[in-house]
Amino acid sequence: MGIEDEIRKAKGRRNALILSHNYQRPEVQDIADYVGDSLELCREARKSGAGLVIFCGVTFMAEAALILTGKDVRMPDLHATCPMAAMLSAEDIRKYKRIHPGATTVIYINSTAEAKTEADVICTSANYEKVIGDAPTDTVLFGPDANMAQRAARICGKKVIAMPADGHCRIHSHLITKTKIGRLKELHPKALVLVHPECVAEVQAMADVVCGTGGMARIARESDRKEFIIGTEEEMCHRLRKENPGKAFYGVGAYCNNMKKTTLEGILRVLNSDNDGRISLDAEIIRKTKPALERMLA
Ligand code: SF4
Repeated sequence: MGIEDEIRKAKGRRNALILSHNYQRPEVQDIADYVGDSLELCREARKSGAGLVIFCGVTFMAEAALILTGKDVRMPDLHATCPMAAMLSAEDIRKYKRIHPGATTVIYINSTAEAKTEADVICTSANYEKVIGDAPTDTVLFGPDANMAQRAARICGKKVIAMPADGHCRIHSHLITKTKIGRLKELHPKALVLVHPECVAEVQAMADVVCGTGGMARIARESDRKEFIIGTEEEMCHRLRKENPGKAFYGVGAYCNNMKKTTLEGILRVLNSDNDGRISLDAEIIRKTKPALERMLA
């Protein structure tokens, strides 16, 4: 019996749900019950009747699933963290709040659970422009991604203060460059260019559409175009190719090491264990964060 069959058998025995982020290895995406962005995965975790959720992604996503569902949420590798989330602590946010009293605090879902306790609203890459635009104040504190903060300020005409000033995802802001997108555009002049808002402004300016991975999946499905340049983590192309046979997707070759820590062996190990990989959070953090995450889902 191959490892995929062993996972399916253990999953049935444990009444488990396997969720995979869009940036996971192809074989992990293929074994999952659902592949999506962090918001879509939280929704699936809530909808499902499964008591055990195997979350293949990075820790902030699994923590959000735990806060929203109260289920037994496990990760095949607890060292799969997001370096950008680690750039903003709750104490940092409190310092910004002291300097800018009265400003609305909007926290991106790519943040630690502790940082989320300081949020007035939590947003995703799908709705951050609307959340910031709808904020009741002209000054908004936003973190941890400074590229998204700058974009929201340009679009919404508000004063958006990035917390920290240089918060970034290395994969989107360093590995997806103007040169690489320019080369792909030369090679594929008919392709629609989709770029993630965590990319730097000069890369965003080369895109036809700037959107999160959920938006990329929708546009790829609905568009008449046959070719797409995908400005996000490379493995997104696996999902897009599977969902859109007959269309071509050109990635930039940007890989997130943390997203690759989850393996089939790790999934099988946590499925066969009672405690391995369990996500746990302080009850006070769950109490403080849940309402803002609920509003994000709504
Ligand atoms: S791709 Fe960037 S934002 Fe996503 S987990 Fe990796 S480092 Fe964090």
